Amino acid sequence: MNKIDIKSLTLQELAEELERLGEKKYRAKQIYDWLHVKLAESFDEMTNLSKALIQKLKEQYVITCLELADVQISRIDGTRKYLFRLDDGNMIESVLMKYKHGNSVCISSQAGCRMGCTFCASTLEGLERSLQPSEMLDQIYHIQRHTKERVSHVVVMGTGEPFDNYDSLLRFLRLLTDENGLHISQRNITVSTCGIVPGIRKFAEEGLNVTLALSLHAANDEKRRKIMPIARKYPLTEVLEACRYYFAQTGRRVTFEYSMAAGVNDSPEDIRELAKLFKGEPCHINLIPINPVKERQFVQSDKKVIENFKNKLENLGINVTIRREMGRDIDGACGQLRKRYMDKLSR
Ligand code: SAH
Repeated sequence: MNKIDIKSLTLQELAEELERLGEKKYRAKQIYDWLHVKLAESFDEMTNLSKALIQKLKEQYVITCLELADVQISRIDGTRKYLFRLDDGNMIESVLMKYKHGNSVCISSQAGCRMGCTFCASTLEGLERSLQPSEMLDQIYHIQRHTKERVSHVVVMGTGEPFDNYDSLLRFLRLLTDENGLHISQRNITVSTCGIVPGIRKFAEEGLNVTLALSLHAANDEKRRKIMPIARKYPLTEVLEACRYYFAQTGRRVTFEYSMAAGVNDSPEDIRELAKLFKGEPCHINLIPINPVKERQFVQSDKKVIENFKNKLENLGINVTIRREMGRDIDGACGQLRKRYMDKLSR
């Protein structure tokens, strides 16, 4: 019999499970608390349960947990990159960034990715598999346990396309923001997508208060299709329409991510096209100096070019920020730590 992944169950579902086992309902709350507040990694830690119940739980359920394979700590800003091994041997990475406003964890939603963006290291080897809700939670739980500091912000911007793993993403968000669990504020969560239109539209209707980030990276379809295969399926007009719908449904301004590569998307013409797209829109553009990936030919835009890009857009009435680079001294771009590890294995 396949054991049930207990950490992916809601409190309600857990209560039903315990009823089925002939246990009192309040046990569910105790177990949920062990899993999602005390962040237990084994049933044996659950000291307020009887030996008999622990035995029963062990027979029918499994607690997923991550094995730490590597951690790199930046000397510049304290950013930490974690490399984790999943139960089946797949590897994922997560990043902890320390800000004045709190600790933010960037999590992976899949092991690998099948979106194929040409500048991204996560997609080089394709998709291995999607993560379970528990495995997304585990990244945050492990880091909070490891640092003994509360995680207050979560961004789903690591390896993987969250809307290619939609149901698990939703369950993960419900568990993460549940008042009986870690209870992270929905306002402190960002989900980033490469632009899967039906996913954005569905997400808009979930009644959630999270920020949506859209990976734009180019201001017209022709250019976008060259660097992001998903753009062949969903043209910009449809993507932007879905983003407007997201704003209308949630009242939350969408963030547009724009990773800048020299000679690719950083010309005065790009500024004009962006301004045309976004004039008068309630949005926010986040400029990111592209992180060079060894297997790809992209070169970061010059600091001055990025500054100028920002100023020009601002003068045209658009809300722009430049993303501060974190952990420059440790395996930069997403997916690089994992990639390097897998290369070593295959050698
Ligand atoms: N699949 C989702 C989330 C993961 S990628 C998405 O596409 O949004 C998180 C962000 O990092 C995306 O905006 C992605 O385009 C960007 N990104 C990936 N590789 C990068 C690189 N080498 N340099 C800069 N940004 C990169």
